[in-house]
Amino acid sequence: MTAASPRIVGNFIDGDYVESAGEELIDRRAPGTDEVVSQVVASSAEAIDRAIDAAREAFDSGPWPHTSGMERAIILNRLADLIDRDAAKLARLDSEEGGKPIILAEGDIAGAASLCRYAASLAINMQGKTFTNNGPDFTGLVLREPIGVVGLIIPWNFPALILCQKLPFALAAGCTVVVKPSEFTSSSAWEIVRLVSEAGVPDGVVNLVSGAGQAGQALTESKKVDLVSFTGSTATGKKVLAAAAGNMKKISLELGGKAANLVFADADLEDAAAGVIFGMNFNNGECCVSQPRLLVERSVADEFVAEVARRAAILKVGQPLDRSTDVGALIHAGHLDKVTSYVQNAPSHGAKVVTGGTRLSGGVFGNGQFLQPTVIDNVSDTAPAFQEEIFGPVLTVTRFADAAEAVRLANSVDYGLSNSVWSKNMDTVLTTAKALRSGTVYANTTIDAPPQMPFGGYKASGIGREMGEAGFEEFTELKSVNIRTGKRAGTFAIPSSGR
Ligand code: NDP
Repeated sequence: MTAASPRIVGNFIDGDYVESAGEELIDRRAPGTDEVVSQVVASSAEAIDRAIDAAREAFDSGPWPHTSGMERAIILNRLADLIDRDAAKLARLDSEEGGKPIILAEGDIAGAASLCRYAASLAINMQGKTFTNNGPDFTGLVLREPIGVVGLIIPWNFPALILCQKLPFALAAGCTVVVKPSEFTSSSAWEIVRLVSEAGVPDGVVNLVSGAGQAGQALTESKKVDLVSFTGSTATGKKVLAAAAGNMKKISLELGGKAANLVFADADLEDAAAGVIFGMNFNNGECCVSQPRLLVERSVADEFVAEVARRAAILKVGQPLDRSTDVGALIHAGHLDKVTSYVQNAPSHGAKVVTGGTRLSGGVFGNGQFLQPTVIDNVSDTAPAFQEEIFGPVLTVTRFADAAEAVRLANSVDYGLSNSVWSKNMDTVLTTAKALRSGTVYANTTIDAPPQMPFGGYKASGIGREMGEAGFEEFTELKSVNIRTGKRAGTFAIPSSGR
């Protein structure tokens, strides 16, 4: 490979890194420049089967499920240290391939290391229950066991971070794994599985298959895989659900979102404006917990919207690797087209674009996929921009009269992943938080999720939880061992002397 050649992401199966065995290579163009920066091996069906077999063998016959929680914790803490050691390289890969600002990519990598450390603590604490309250001769043991072989399907918006919302938790539980990264952003996962080996995880426990259009379905359909954990669109999540129905495997789905910021008149409006700007533009708006809807109390709305628009207009859109960039490049041209179509169609639904909406090209933007942060006012609750996941730096504004109307508007979408409430009245905060149909509610903050807090969706936003103890438990099965001591009494207990 010459210095100018794109890097190649291949497969990692049973401890062997195979860059390429002559398969087709898929070019990955950097969203900021449209230049090819990596090539991903289009894995063959045979390679995918080998990866699944390696994970199955490592689970059924290897040492990993039987290592002590302490040993697993030591290895996961080592993995966290290695991620920290290689943080600059990993952040650069995610920024270059994913288009996210480098500063945010660095935050993702720090978060990935924290998730490994938190998962280490769960490995040590993995536990079941004992029941001794069903008569003196009964002891009930509820054993918590690793679920088995798990398939992890990772999206492009947080390649390293979402990998680490799943992988260390699966390893902490004693599972073995096949990772399928997005073909747009495979490089950081490819590097992290190397670190997994360096940390001391035995061969076959973690495997990776790259490519597009094959592995996801194969993992979901395979009888040798016990759980598939998928993060991505609700449309593909439904396909995962359908494929898993064929073999009744357990699934965990972390899908789309359409969060609202509910801003009440008694909020700290300065803080709320900063939060709204962060919520709409964080990770270019390509985030399942992005906050693309602003619901604002009518009495303060005009002034508040003007302030939000002013801030949106002065954000710096720029090359992802530029440290001063606030908003980078969207993942690919087709996605930019989709995001822009919502902005273009907004006036036909009675709304008004108050800032942004323009694609940026030429000069520093070159052939990249850039969009100015966009605020659309007067958006009705039936408009597509209000209801559908846009996944870009676009904010819709809708006014409300009181808390009941705010909650009705927030809950009127199919999704239920997260929402933010802004008010200094704790009564308003708690009452509203309880009424919102979403897996997470941020109060006077936004996109603020430490690893101990479970994360997942209501309604079309998914099934199951990640992070927290609940996220760990997704990777486990419970086994009840019901024990009687002494002579067994009861029906059909016929004595040997006969009746
Ligand atoms: P998708 O949601 O379509 O997911 C793509 C991934 O799903 C690939 O890794 C693919 O693997 C796998 N896959 C596809 N079909 C199946 C199947 N039948 N069974 C199992 N796995 C399957 O992502 P896109 O990149 O197409 O993004 C589309 C939209 O999804 C975005 O515009 C955005 O709105 C949303 N999204 C949401 C995310 C979130 O965080 N919730 C993250 C990313 C996107 P393979 O290549 O092997 O088929």
